[in-house]
Amino acid sequence: MNIVRKSFPVGPLQCNCTVIGDTEAGIGYVFDPGGDATRIMATVESLGLRIIGIIHTHAHLDHILAAGEIHKQTGAPIWLHRSDRFLWDTLEQQCGMWGIPYAPVPEPAHWIEHEQDLECGGNCIHTPGHTPGSVSFYFEDSSLLIAGDTLFMGSVGRTDFPGGDAGLLKKSIQQRIYCLDESAAVVPGHGPETSIGQEMRFNSFVRADSRDF
Ligand SMILES: [Zn+2]
Ligand SMILES: [Zn+2]
Repeated sequence: MNIVRKSFPVGPLQCNCTVIGDTEAGIGYVFDPGGDATRIMATVESLGLRIIGIIHTHAHLDHILAAGEIHKQTGAPIWLHRSDRFLWDTLEQQCGMWGIPYAPVPEPAHWIEHEQDLECGGNCIHTPGHTPGSVSFYFEDSSLLIAGDTLFMGSVGRTDFPGGDAGLLKKSIQQRIYCLDESAAVVPGHGPETSIGQEMRFNSFVRADSRDF
């Protein structure tokens, strides 16, 4: 395997999109295509990858806006955790709320399972809290976590949107993220990259503290 990865902010809410793949096998994934389909496809082409999945960390519109266009251009299936299905069904209303034009997106064709393996050495981790179907993706060999809106540098995802649960978010981070390799880089849903160890020590919302279990 020869893993390549590019992460960059896209769309009106500057969601971090990640393209990751194995150049030996020539396949890869797009995570959270929140806008700027042209830029995402240019990145896919520059890495020489055939996209085999369009994966969503959760079903908030800012992580989905370009999914329809990427699907049209690659034919790859759309992935989502089933617990966010109810949010996927409100995409048009979410766009209305934020005043963002709605572009129809096809139905998810693949339901993400906890601990499901990806190609490229990745593994899915169900990390509910920000939304019920929030998932993170851990690439052990590449020492990388794609965290969606679960964990940010020095912060955590909001839990005041429909389906949010602050207690569950904390549990997900402590029990399913802070147990991973501390040196792993974290690509959050928005803002700069961090590392698991840095958040365990300095995140003022959720520390690695066994007393909270
Ligand atoms: Zn979100
Ligand atoms: Zn977001």
